[in-house]
Amino acid sequence: MPPLYLASNELPRHNQVLAQFPYDMNQNIIACGHKKDIGTRVVLWHEGDGFNCPNKRGRSNCSHHDSKLNDAPSRKDSAYKILKPESAYRELVQHVHQFVLHYDGCYSSHHCHQLMAKSPFKGSHFYLDLDGTLYQTCDLYWKTNTAPADDRQGNERAIHVEIANLAWEALACESEWLPTPRDKYQKKRGQWLLELPDAYRKKLQTTDFKVTPSRAYGERGYFSRKINGRVVRMWDFTEEQYQALTKLCIGVNHLLPKIKLQVPFDKKTGRHPLDRLKNYSKFSGILGHAHVQKGENGVECKYDPGSAFNWARLKKAFHRR
Ligand SMILES: [Zn+2]
Repeated sequence: MPPLYLASNELPRHNQVLAQFPYDMNQNIIACGHKKDIGTRVVLWHEGDGFNCPNKRGRSNCSHHDSKLNDAPSRKDSAYKILKPESAYRELVQHVHQFVLHYDGCYSSHHCHQLMAKSPFKGSHFYLDLDGTLYQTCDLYWKTNTAPADDRQGNERAIHVEIANLAWEALACESEWLPTPRDKYQKKRGQWLLELPDAYRKKLQTTDFKVTPSRAYGERGYFSRKINGRVVRMWDFTEEQYQALTKLCIGVNHLLPKIKLQVPFDKKTGRHPLDRLKNYSKFSGILGHAHVQKGENGVECKYDPGSAFNWARLKKAFHRR
């Protein structure tokens, strides 16, 4: 049996116990009060513009909270107390080894949070908005119900980010819950642009942000590949999202080093697999919702972060380090 706790001299370096942090332009992410500056804007749940996770849960593999919070209905925020944050952190480091990436199927992070807040159980530790702004919604100690995975244990071992992207909802012919008469991306002066409704545009941290995919596929603009049996057609994420995501992954790896800086990659074929992995529960690193969930044991089949997501770019960024 491996030891349950890391010795204190084995704790990840560069962490500091959180005393006070400025609310203005925070760049820290936080686990059990330990913070890590990731070099890009992170709006915390305490802040005026922040989003507070409406549906936190206790992890069953962590013991520094009231166990009545595990898989129980959401309670008032004051019920979610981390007891002895130092040993809670050591425990968290031992048990969390996956960072799961999602697209949110929404116009923006504000839109995504509206849906989370309406749900009695949904949540995600991070949102990554169109303009590259990150939102952390709760301490990473807590579990969020974002990806049960095919073994229904996925959230116990993971933290999550919902990246703003409409996926197939952007296509007029494929949208399921946001129907529009024409595609939501239109080409203007040679560039693809998302026609973002004003209500969501105004909520972005960056004024007048133009939502342009980082890469366009040929003339049609959107990418198309089969994932877990479904052809997923979607425009790419923005350049700002990729840049912030890379910094977030590196920061997450500092705080929770069992989340290794690696993504699913098949050495034999030289390709990044998109379907559910065979060893999905053991993988230690950064992977997609689709990599852990193809719809066994009564859970939904998942396709995110989708066909446009640039796995090779993440791999290269990690390799350079
Ligand atoms: Zn997902």
